Amino acid sequence: MREIASDSSLVGRGMTDGAGLFRRWFDRLTTAAASGRPTAYVFVMGSLAEVLRVFDFELSFPEINSLQTAVRRVAGQYLSEAEDYGYSPDICGYVKADVALQLRKGAHPMGTLPPPAIAVATTACNTYVKWAEIWERLYHIPIFTLDVPGTRRAGGQTWPGDPDFAADRDYVAAQIKELIALCETVSGKRFDIDRLRETLALTNAMTSAWRRAIALNRQRPAVFSALTEGTVYLGVANGLRGTPEGRDFFDGLVEELEYKAARGLGTIDDERYRLVFVGVPCYPIFRRFNEMFSEWGGVFVNSTYLWFASGGADLGFEYDLARPIESLAEGVLISVRHAIDGMLYQDGAVADVLEPFHVDGVVFHPIKSCRTVSTGLADSRRALLRRADIPSLFIESDMMDKRVVSEAQLKNRIDAFFEGLAARR
Ligand code: SF4
Repeated sequence: MREIASDSSLVGRGMTDGAGLFRRWFDRLTTAAASGRPTAYVFVMGSLAEVLRVFDFELSFPEINSLQTAVRRVAGQYLSEAEDYGYSPDICGYVKADVALQLRKGAHPMGTLPPPAIAVATTACNTYVKWAEIWERLYHIPIFTLDVPGTRRAGGQTWPGDPDFAADRDYVAAQIKELIALCETVSGKRFDIDRLRETLALTNAMTSAWRRAIALNRQRPAVFSALTEGTVYLGVANGLRGTPEGRDFFDGLVEELEYKAARGLGTIDDERYRLVFVGVPCYPIFRRFNEMFSEWGGVFVNSTYLWFASGGADLGFEYDLARPIESLAEGVLISVRHAIDGMLYQDGAVADVLEPFHVDGVVFHPIKSCRTVSTGLADSRRALLRRADIPSLFIESDMMDKRVVSEAQLKNRIDAFFEGLAARR
């Protein structure tokens, strides 16, 4: 077991280092735009980073690029530009911000983003498939869509040892081999299976640390907020997956969180209510949105976002390096399926974390422009309440579009929720 560090400068290091890594990553993308280094556009649910890194592609995550425009309060300009261009106000806001970004030749508040040489989508979200087609039309690049079999019915997942699982795994493995052949053509480089093993090993170290970091939030007080710090950690988990920097960041993060846990140091000073967040955050007023909870002593100890927006990395699936492609297929199948479940079948998983994470309430946050996550949330809430006696709040806003975020209305609902929690005590 790791020895706990005794340096109080550890506290907050994950946020500082995460922000620094993020800036350097965008600097690298800016350099790639200037030098013409081949870049792969990928998505958080099934990025296939381990394969793409073997061919030295720079990775750009359009979902992250788009949400950064909202956090930096300029998303409105990008959304309006895409709507003027012809995109409907009610489609995924990430897509529209990205379209405007492409029309602006990659101009982004954090740098200049390169055009894609290849794009890899999965079937984790139907929007991914149509979004990649936009790049195909704009840049005439090859797009690769990996069809990941999802859960056919609630609780109906199959696992290694089951013939149905083996069939799904073989189906994914065959597609991964096709992707490798495509990457060879696009990059002009030969596939090196030992480099794949190296990137898989780096991801193994990262995902097991990610799982450990989330588990440390069972602690009272919670050592990090799943909404605020968690979003920075997620950025690193996606952008630096399969790299030494990503592995080192998560090693250091676990060290910091263990340090805090051992000393009873919480992410907020006065933790009174422990919450689970279901859905996608409200990025247009990101800090204020969180404050509306933290002012009442509410802290998000876990979220479905930590699950699906890390592509299921929270499971900590570890690849078997002795059979890299087959094991990668297993990992993609299990992790992406888990990510999809985090959006569509989350009531069981949320019920499972209530006791170990000492949860006082669940906040459902459907948003206008992500129908994939939001459509079934009212039903999920009913399903959860059938399973567990837990107070819940249902509030609506958006992840990108400030025009549909009513801060006053949110605050009224949130205040009433906490008054209810207080009365229940
Ligand atoms: S999951 Fe939602 S936010 Fe993400 S691409 Fe799909 S529709 Fe857009």
